[in-house]
Amino acid sequence: MTTTPTFTLRDGAAMPAVGFGVYQIPAAETETAVTAALEAGYRHLDTAAAYENEEAVGRAIAASGLPRDELFVTTKLWVQDAGEAPSRAAAGRSLERLGLDHVDLLLIHQPFGDYYGTWRTLQELQREGLVRSIGVSNFAPDRLMDLIDHNEVVPAVNQIEAHPFHQRVADLALLEQHQVRAVAWGPLGQGRGDLFTHPVLTRIAEAHGASVAQVVLAWLLQRGIAVLPKSVHPERMQENLAATELTLAADEMDAIAALDTGVSTAFDHRDPASVHALGTTRFAV
Ligand code: NDP
Repeated sequence: MTTTPTFTLRDGAAMPAVGFGVYQIPAAETETAVTAALEAGYRHLDTAAAYENEEAVGRAIAASGLPRDELFVTTKLWVQDAGEAPSRAAAGRSLERLGLDHVDLLLIHQPFGDYYGTWRTLQELQREGLVRSIGVSNFAPDRLMDLIDHNEVVPAVNQIEAHPFHQRVADLALLEQHQVRAVAWGPLGQGRGDLFTHPVLTRIAEAHGASVAQVVLAWLLQRGIAVLPKSVHPERMQENLAATELTLAADEMDAIAALDTGVSTAFDHRDPASVHALGTTRFAV
């Protein structure tokens, strides 16, 4: 079994550098997938109220019999629960669905609605011990800077889309400046486009006897970015976790750096149409 290295967050918590993401895994399949991921050696799980599978994640955690302090569990609060009182209630519902008395990391899922109210609540929940670390997701540099300037606690992480075709160089510079850990969602480009067959990535993978997925994950990890690959296939779960054993040379890192398009392959969080679509989506949670 591969054990993953950890990144230390600015609040002192240790976060496994590779986490298992459960976005788009149907609730009925999530317990099986998370159980397989835990068996493969994952100790960091990434879910969200909006994924509507927190209960299944909780069942897999309970069934694993693993000591709670060996697991790092992240969940996220959706836009419909933004604001001081709604976010407190939503955090309680997430804990209940997960069957946990605390989560290791609680994130504001999107920078929309009254997320300042949410952040005030997250700071309280952290003081109360219901949440070990608090952070944000999908915050562009300007919104993150403003949140940092006008609050007591600096987010421990910003979970953002990051992969070879959307590298987030400016975002990462600001995160580094404020010791906010970058966590990559969609690290494999969500399986879209030509990532797995790209000639540059394929050439590097062949040189190492590795897979393209491992090369991409190793490239992110070597830049200090935590990764959350999702797969429902146990062999891919193991393959992705083993990316921590791969080290890329400087010229290989540079060759991948040249693949940046600077454009999201999923959602542009600065596009009013995307802001409206995401911000008005409601979930039954
Ligand atoms: P990923 O980049 O992890 O890509 C997942 C896709 O890649 C799936 O189609 C999967 O297929 C395939 N895949 C996984 N491993 C391999 C492999 N080794 N070889 C070939 N194909 C592979 O996309 P996600 O969108 O799932 O992002 C990962 C996680 O990030 C999410 O699960 C979630 O936890 C988080 N996330 C957060 C967001 C946010 O707004 N904060 C937004 C989106 C995601 P298969 O399952 O069939 O193996």
